[in-house]
Amino acid sequence: MDKLTIRDLDASGKRVLVRVDFNVPLEDGKITDDSRIRAALPTIRALLAQNARVILASHLGRPDGKVQDGLRLRPVAERLSQLLRMPVPVTGDALGAGTQDAVRRLRPGEVLLLENLRFHAEEEKNDPEFAKALASYAEVYVNDAFGTAHRAHASTVGVAKLLPAYAGLLMEREIAQLSNLLENPARPFAAIIGGAKVSGKIKVLEHLMGKVDVFVIGGGMANTFLLAQGYSVGKSLAEPDRVEDARRILAAAEAAGVRVVLPVDVVVAKEVTRGSEYKTIPVAKIPASWHIVDVGRQTLALMEEALEPARTIFWNGPLGVFEIPVFGTGTRQIARFLAARAEAGATVVVGGGDSVAAVEQEGLASKMTHISTGGGASLEFLEGRELPGIAVLLDRPKTTTATGPSGAPSRDPEASA
Ligand code: ADP
Ligand code: MG
Repeated sequence: MDKLTIRDLDASGKRVLVRVDFNVPLEDGKITDDSRIRAALPTIRALLAQNARVILASHLGRPDGKVQDGLRLRPVAERLSQLLRMPVPVTGDALGAGTQDAVRRLRPGEVLLLENLRFHAEEEKNDPEFAKALASYAEVYVNDAFGTAHRAHASTVGVAKLLPAYAGLLMEREIAQLSNLLENPARPFAAIIGGAKVSGKIKVLEHLMGKVDVFVIGGGMANTFLLAQGYSVGKSLAEPDRVEDARRILAAAEAAGVRVVLPVDVVVAKEVTRGSEYKTIPVAKIPASWHIVDVGRQTLALMEEALEPARTIFWNGPLGVFEIPVFGTGTRQIARFLAARAEAGATVVVGGGDSVAAVEQEGLASKMTHISTGGGASLEFLEGRELPGIAVLLDRPKTTTATGPSGAPSRDPEASA
């Protein structure tokens, strides 16, 4: 990795501000899924083992710059306290004299959680004064919130410019796993792209085009490609204004020798609702007033045949409207298939909020090589974009052992910075 991580840091006795992603789902004030809290534990534990004073900062939900009691971090602090088996006090506010005081009193080996950063509109605006206030709490900054690394906010970018900034262990793992897909995947490399919209994922398809051997396209995404192939898709979710993009992608794939697997049969429903009438039909026979809600059995067989030899597989986007169980057959079957491939030694990476939810519903998360904690962030990463929250972290100094053609040490123009 070309960024410094907490492995490069001696945090002993230091105040360390750690940006974590504790944006967990809540129902009636109860956390329904604590995986994001668990994902931050390795970094927190490593810093505590170094005897650091750990100040955690996160957002929760979208309070839009106002205090919302339902989005306070207290339930998160309680859960974290259970997991760490130590008290985790949470401040009443991310700013203010009380918080400054709590930070000052924090001793080595203790943890403090700042209240929801997004109670202040300044957070998302990357306000310099807000960043300065956060920076004043600590001597070192660590970013472990990969899920917000694509946002230039005060706690992800502003503060990182004011303190020595390191990657946490979760951040390190996300960057390593996703970079591996782009830079060095074991071949054949297959990408399964599904979900709702072509428009949001077109850049990912384009960036992966030069890298994958196989594209498997399903879900709502596939409908626009079916239009591009000349089929009618009835009332299905599709983006007619993206048909040209789909055609371009299909042509580019053909030119590059990339195999594209599209549905040959689909499940169609009268309405996209529970209890609606549904049937499986070939893609050439989609009734004008029905909706595509899942891939069919022949399609699944075709997809599995194409994926079988792959040594690296990336999956983003469900293959159907999996929230309605009868339309989730394709998504569940692919999840199970990928878990089996991972167990057989393939590298399987799953990214995207809904795809990850589908894998977790099936209890298969632990079988996959990597489950990305960042939906939007992982997609932007795979578009080849530099994420602002990563770019701002300290670069690993380049080694100076290289020698030039004359045998004299070569001058690396970037190494002097
Ligand atoms: P992710 O969060 O994994 O990136 P998306 O947000 O792009 O995935 O897409 C997930 C959504 O796509 C789900 O809500 C699912 O119901 C929907 N979806 C999948 N297939 C279809 C389809 N054929 N028609 C309509 N919606 C679909
Ligand atoms: Mg989604």
